[in-house]
Parts: sequence; structure tokens; C-alpha cells
Amino acid sequence: MPSTRTHAPRGALVFDMRQLGRQAGSALTQTRTVPAPDDLHLELIGVPVGADVALEVRFEAVSEGVLATGTAIAPLAGECARCLAPLTSSVTASFQELYLYAGGRHDKHEKHDRYDKNDRNDEQEEQDAGELYHLDGDLLDLEPAFRDAVVLALPMSPLCREDCPGLCAECGAPLADAGPGHRHDAAADPRWAALKQLGDQDDNDYQDRRARATDLQEG
Ligand SMILES: [Zn+2]
Ligand SMILES: [Zn+2]
Repeated sequence: MPSTRTHAPRGALVFDMRQLGRQAGSALTQTRTVPAPDDLHLELIGVPVGADVALEVRFEAVSEGVLATGTAIAPLAGECARCLAPLTSSVTASFQELYLYAGGRHDKHEKHDRYDKNDRNDEQEEQDAGELYHLDGDLLDLEPAFRDAVVLALPMSPLCREDCPGLCAECGAPLADAGPGHRHDAAADPRWAALKQLGDQDDNDYQDRRARATDLQEG
């Protein structure tokens, strides 16, 4: 049984559907620049709160509600997953959601499959299955659909550039700045050599213990 959730209309992402009317098939396209709400971010990157988000939405009246199909283009700020350098970019998120008329006869039903976009992954279908959007009178609050679409479109591992070489494993310097000649000659510093030997020793001990443990198991 899907839970129904109504969102109280508020602010910049609420659209008035009076102009559209309820005649199935009538459509209306609106463009709007809205300030980004908070919480549009993952661990490494996100949309800065209040940043300008360009929104274009086509509203289409269908028998049970309004189908909202749109695109949002939002600026991003965060850091590179490999070298941790600050980066800025942008994200384009597309969405298509059905908003049901309040109190309609389809109110308690799950969303129709035909409104699901083909390229959606299973994870999102699971999310959608539990969530229905409703109009509040003539008002359509696009925020939940917008939010889901933008967060899904955020990159999990943002990169400052496609071929970012990351950080030097030994000294932590960004390899892009350090240049191709950057390397550490372990033999040049006896302290590094000593450390390296210790490390190798640990590895050997570990392998021995593992081997013994396996012997015991096989017993
Ligand atoms: Zn980087
Ligand atoms: Zn280094």
C-alpha cells in the first residue's frame, strides 16, 4: 500500500494551474529562475543554497491530474573526489511527475506506469512507488519532484577534470600541480627506506598469519 504524501505549497516552486484548466490535453509551458532550496547536495558536491536554478516545465492536463515534465539547470560547487581541489560545474536534471487532483477517484492508486520514463533505474521506481504527488487546489508544488531529480543527477564522484591524476600517495601533493617529474626516491632518504622495510615486514607477517589461519580451517 503506497503511502500518500501531500506537500504544503510554499515559495518559488509553486505553480498556479488555473491558467491550464482541467480540460485533458491542454498544456502550458513555464520558465522560471528559482533560488535553490537547501539540502540539494551529496557528500562532495551540491547546489549552493539560493543559487539561481533555471527551470522549464511543461504542464499538461490529463484525466487524473497534471503531468509536469521539465528540466532544471543548476550550478554546482564542491570538491574533486581525487585531488580534493574545489570545483564548480553545473547539472541538468530532467523530471516527469504526475500530480493528482485532490480528492479525485484515482487518489489512492499508484501512479500509472505509462508516466514513468523508460530510462529510470529500479531504485527510483521503488522510490516513486511509495510516493504520490497531489495538487493543492489549483496549486502545484514542484519542489519534491524537482528535489528528487536534482539530487539523483548529482555526481557521486565529481572530478575537477576527467583525467585528474589525484594526489601523490607518498606526500599528498596534487599530482596535476607537481608535474610529471614528481617522484620520491625512497633510497635517497634512509628514514623512508626503513619505514618501507617495516611495511614489507608487516605484509609478510600478515601473509603468514593468513596462511596459518587457512591451514587451521582446512584442518
Ligand atoms: Zn582533481
Ligand atoms: Zn609526492
